[in-house]
Amino acid sequence: MNSALISAVRGMRDILPEQIGAWQRLEKTAATCFHSYGYRELRTPLVEQLELFTRQIGETTDVVQKEMYRFTDAANGEQVALRPEATVSTVRALLAAGKQRGGTVRVWYGGPMFRHERPQKGRYRQFHQLGAEALGSSDPTLDAEQIIMLARLWQVLGVHDKLRLDINNLGNRRERACHREKLTAYFQKHREALDEDARQRIESNPLRILDSKNPVTLEIAANAPALADELGADSQRHAEQVKEKLTAANVAFNENAHLVRGLDYYNLTVYEWSLADDGRRQNTVCGGGRYDGLAENIGGDAFPGCGFALGMERIIDILPPEAPAALADCFVALTDSGTAATAVADRIAEDCRDRGLAVWRHVGGGNIGKQIKKADTMGIPLVIIIGADEIEGDYITVKRLLDGKQQQTAVNDAAIVSRRLLDA
Ligand code: ATP
Ligand code: MG
Repeated sequence: MNSALISAVRGMRDILPEQIGAWQRLEKTAATCFHSYGYRELRTPLVEQLELFTRQIGETTDVVQKEMYRFTDAANGEQVALRPEATVSTVRALLAAGKQRGGTVRVWYGGPMFRHERPQKGRYRQFHQLGAEALGSSDPTLDAEQIIMLARLWQVLGVHDKLRLDINNLGNRRERACHREKLTAYFQKHREALDEDARQRIESNPLRILDSKNPVTLEIAANAPALADELGADSQRHAEQVKEKLTAANVAFNENAHLVRGLDYYNLTVYEWSLADDGRRQNTVCGGGRYDGLAENIGGDAFPGCGFALGMERIIDILPPEAPAALADCFVALTDSGTAATAVADRIAEDCRDRGLAVWRHVGGGNIGKQIKKADTMGIPLVIIIGADEIEGDYITVKRLLDGKQQQTAVNDAAIVSRRLLDA
């Protein structure tokens, strides 16, 4: 009996075989690029203790307040969450492994993240990030290196022309506290003109008001006290060095004093890559920055660091198209009369795989002509034919579809002949 098909959870998508090529291209290219800068892969659990995120990302951020998948484990009452991002998990994992005692650590990660947002194009509840983190040093070389590494990745992927880079400097905790006091006072003075969302943030997170999408609020924010005026010599030098290194590496950037990022843990360098000419709200493809106090906040030793995460769905959306790879190198077509053909087909398929060929072994019968047509529509360049005549005469036929060239050979030589026809 048929019952209604159970659908996927809203905002969570399947990645079908015909879509996987772009994903694998991005994953492989990124892994190679990150490796060339000394980054090694780290894999952390998808589920963490809730407190890890509430304490680190910030109680008043959207990610924690509105978007986090949090639940109580029915088996033991533990408060857990699906990871909404992986920076804090990475820092937790490295601290747990004692890596803060061993100098600079460079790691990258990739995988699904979960945020309970309103699904729309480019915004999902399960989405995927690739990210990298470097810990153990406050050297601006690391901040710049990551941005330059991303510029290289965009170049190799062929998306560099579509992206722009905005950077800002958030200073240290004391400088931010001074600025925050002045901001709060300023927004209090203009309270009446602000939208509801902004008003709620005056005390809790006035910096986020600068990030508002409301035009009236933005107009008021334009004249708000600037953080740049609070920055001391050390913060300024850090910012200058990052910019010098980007310039030396020919990476173009825009300084954007209103760039604050949605998570609380950042200091000094912050940056975002977004679609250069796009009015969509979902146009940020990658965000990152420095988070020197994060490790101590988790309860670990001092372990300054910086990192970024890119949204895979949003990058895949702008990847230049590439011809889909053929499903296999050869198609084994066989007559459905008798078991002799079946045994020969199985054997030849394995022989070909021994020689490094990818093989689509036909099942389900039908005449040879139809099978050859099917191979052609699948884009498979070679067909190995085990027809009635072939079984009778104890040979097989290998046919190259591109030019129709074909060759008859003994079963034992089928794989060698196929390889030769393919490579010729
Ligand atoms: P946004 O402003 O789009 O909400 P964000 O500031 O919340 O992004 P980050 O936490 O910086 O995003 O995550 C890094 C990247 O991950 C983003 O730049 C984006 O490309 C991607 N990303 C974030 N949330 C989603 C989502 N719900 N669906 C798809 N991609 C996402
Ligand atoms: Mg967001």
